[in-house]
Amino acid sequence: MRSFLNTLLGWLIGSRPRLLCDTAVWRVGVGELARRTLGGRRESGAYLLGVELPNGAKRIQEFVFYDDIDPLALATGEVTIRQVALPRLWEHCRSRGYGVVADVHVHPAGYGQSPSDRANPVMPRAGHIAMILPNFARGAPAPGNIGIYEYHGDGAWTDHSAAGSKFVKLEKTS
Ligand SMILES: [Zn+2]
Repeated sequence: MRSFLNTLLGWLIGSRPRLLCDTAVWRVGVGELARRTLGGRRESGAYLLGVELPNGAKRIQEFVFYDDIDPLALATGEVTIRQVALPRLWEHCRSRGYGVVADVHVHPAGYGQSPSDRANPVMPRAGHIAMILPNFARGAPAPGNIGIYEYHGDGAWTDHSAAGSKFVKLEKTS
């Protein structure tokens, strides 16, 4: 009974993936992020749009690259999104029926958060998930060797990187 309850509790509160993504959507999106670094000369990033599932997990359906929303987003070498670009993003979300379920950006080497990443969440609301791909997204990074951070508000984050595919699950859906 006890172990059954523990299993049930684990299933309810922790061990179910919070984000899902089709493997092909991930592979293409991550490849495109690597390409947009121009061979490692600048960082790149994307909003991850998708839908919430009945169990509360979210499914990533589309990568929307920062430089497609704002042509100057990558101009300084570090991702900077101007507020003027956001209406374009909201319009795109509306037309697809998607919301922003997470974000992802690349770093030159490791996948730890920078002070600026911690201070400036892309979506400053509790439950938002930010992912960081190391090595300019070279070598097909996937959960297990990427940074996965959950924002709680007031500058507080939880590092879920070690949970890897238990937290962000890639799966073949078609
Ligand atoms: Zn960063």
